[in-house]
Amino acid sequence: MNYLKEDTIAALSTAAGKSAIAVIRLSGKNSFQIIDKIFKTHSKPEQQAKHGYITDGIEKKDEVLCTFFKAPHTYTGENLVEIAAHGNPVIINEILNLLYKSGARPAEPGEFTYRAFLNGKMDLVEAEAVCALITSKTEMSAKAALNSLSGEFSSKIKNIRNAITNLIAFMEANLDHPDEDITFLSRGEKLLRLDSHIKDVQNLLNSYKTGEILQQGIKVAIIGKPNAGKSSLLNAILGKNRAIVTDIAGTTTDTVEETIDCCGIPLTITDTAGIRDRAENLIEILGQEKTRETACRADILILVFDSSSEPDCNDAKIADFLKKSDLNIPIICALNKSDLPSLFLSSYLLNRDNMAKVKISAKTGAGIADLLDEIVKIAGVSESKNDYLMINSRHFILLQNTLESLTRTKQALSARDADEIACFEALNAQTALNEILGINVKQDILDTIFSTFCIGK
Ligand code: GDP
Repeated sequence: MNYLKEDTIAALSTAAGKSAIAVIRLSGKNSFQIIDKIFKTHSKPEQQAKHGYITDGIEKKDEVLCTFFKAPHTYTGENLVEIAAHGNPVIINEILNLLYKSGARPAEPGEFTYRAFLNGKMDLVEAEAVCALITSKTEMSAKAALNSLSGEFSSKIKNIRNAITNLIAFMEANLDHPDEDITFLSRGEKLLRLDSHIKDVQNLLNSYKTGEILQQGIKVAIIGKPNAGKSSLLNAILGKNRAIVTDIAGTTTDTVEETIDCCGIPLTITDTAGIRDRAENLIEILGQEKTRETACRADILILVFDSSSEPDCNDAKIADFLKKSDLNIPIICALNKSDLPSLFLSSYLLNRDNMAKVKISAKTGAGIADLLDEIVKIAGVSESKNDYLMINSRHFILLQNTLESLTRTKQALSARDADEIACFEALNAQTALNEILGINVKQDILDTIFSTFCIGK
């Protein structure tokens, strides 16, 4: 990011399009001088929020409310103005152009938060949580992002980092004065402390999967032979008629996708074209190809069987596809049409680990809740917990580096004759933890992180 401290930046911070109110942000050294050129007000100077007009000097452009935030107690740590204007794109463009003509430049994606990070208003974990919060798809994922934004994840990292720094101080003291083991911290005590830090890092690593599930969601593919009731199942889960249901085989020729909030987990469910032994036309063949691709990309497969009929060559085709593709993902067998007498042989189902069976009726809704419970169980997310953190893949890699370095520290310390190596490895762990917080992070990594933000944030 081309960040120049002298620059004052401006951008629309609310969503583009028509709205009752839109907020334009202006941040930088010259924010107050720039707004002064285009904002006329009769409000008292001491008022923080001032009512007035944006004007080009000849005519009024909009009636607005400008709120003034004086550095350093602002989001960016710089002088900042928020213009609450009428949410008409034509007016917003006029105001932005006036700001640019008066000395501001357009903000780059995430530049307000980038400035907040550079000015010490937040660390990198908190800055990343801003983006995660905006893109959260469920209440629960928003809560996890907010926990990270409020510094809960950062303080866990800082606590481990500080404890390791303390341990390094003892290790270095021992290196300088090798005979005074007792005076400083015994080897046994150091190893005990290391064990506890390793456990703390492991606990954070274990939370990664949940954080990723809450942020990215889970992809569930519904597959099965034509007429098994796949589209009916999608509709039953959504509680609305999203996919076309008929008893004509081959009706669904393309995938149909919807995202729902399932106990706090963003669940993207895809209804696929039925797999059958002999597809009847090119569209169906292409549809089945897409089914296979969707199944391979899914996190969980729901295999729908029609339990009111005996297994046939189409069910065999699906079993064959699963065997050949060697998919190592959890499968839920949904024995559909449980409202009708069962003719299905359970022994026919594939026998493999990671496979649950649920009796359902997409028609009556029976068993749908059990099916969703099974998905939540596989995801391992508990709705009653509210202390989840948003740990992303960058944090995960650095936490893994920390764990490896701490494990090597322990090995070296246990070996008794490798104290210098132990110290070196502990310093590596400290560096990795600092990097999570954004200390000594390379510019290209920062650029990549902030480029994923929206403009105006
Ligand atoms: P798909 O081809 O696998 O997507 O199957 P559909 O959802 O289009 O359903 C095929 C036929 O089975 C339709 O006539 C549905 O009404 C019927 N059907 C689906 N689920 C059930 C069920 O649970 N019970 C009964 N009795 N019929 C069902």
